[in-house]
Amino acid sequence: MSMICYLLSPRGFCSGVTRAVNMANQVLKLYGSVYITEDIIHNEIFMKNLKRAGVIKVSSIDDVPDGSAVMISVHGVSPKIIEKAENKQLTIIDGTCPIVESVQKAVRKASQEGKKIIIIGNRTHPEIIAILGYAYNKDSFVVYNELDVDLLPDFVGEEVVYFTQTTLNCYSVRSIIKKIVEKIPHIQSISENNICYAIKQRQYTIDEISNAMDLVIIVGSAYSANSTRLSEIAKNAGAKKVIQIDDKNCLDLKIFKDVKKFAIASGTSTPEAVIDDLVNFLKDNINVIFEEYRAI
Ligand code: SF4
Repeated sequence: MSMICYLLSPRGFCSGVTRAVNMANQVLKLYGSVYITEDIIHNEIFMKNLKRAGVIKVSSIDDVPDGSAVMISVHGVSPKIIEKAENKQLTIIDGTCPIVESVQKAVRKASQEGKKIIIIGNRTHPEIIAILGYAYNKDSFVVYNELDVDLLPDFVGEEVVYFTQTTLNCYSVRSIIKKIVEKIPHIQSISENNICYAIKQRQYTIDEISNAMDLVIIVGSAYSANSTRLSEIAKNAGAKKVIQIDDKNCLDLKIFKDVKKFAIASGTSTPEAVIDDLVNFLKDNINVIFEEYRAI
């Protein structure tokens, strides 16, 4: 009997990643090479290919030779880095996703108005490192879980506003926000959260289907925050087994033993060609029927 594989939509790059990838390709055509200090997108396979095509990664903007071209990743950078790049007469190609940029601008405005800033996110992620650079006053706080909320001051008599990373788990962030609001009832926010719609759509879909799956395969690099959130949501939703892989080469066919129904989903930085390759590999190696699936 055939297994059924649900191919979850949407797949492939989101609009922000597509934009940055197009910019990188254009700049390589124009200059032949371009420097980066952070991976333009969080996908190992894609970045390896870009590096072969002329993208050069250095550890800091200080290591970029004066007068060269430098590209900012989809996650953005702190304004201090832009200033340094300008001082070095670098040609700056800004791949920051417009959605991330809108959060940066909102943080800068709130900060200029003298408000205290709370950012919910991973303090080591480049998006958060960049956003913190827009909080000019020193009183900005990053929280990642409910325990961090306990450590926040009460901000009595102070204006305070929260923002979130664009790629958080839209389910688990609710309890963190609830706890913040309980502790600081006068806190403001620009919107309920800043999680991007492209991320939410994929999270809703995986949450809806996972409970009925013997196996969920997330295609996305381990350092892709949004791919890792999909794995987390699939596990929490009750999938019997969840694996996260870069591509078909990481797949051991033994995993399909006793599997009747499985799903394939991908992060917003996973190239569609990688998923197509995986689908073709499965068609060649297991007895499977594919069905498209999208949450309503
Ligand atoms: S997931 Fe959303 S915020 Fe992140 S790059 Fe894509 S469109 Fe931009």
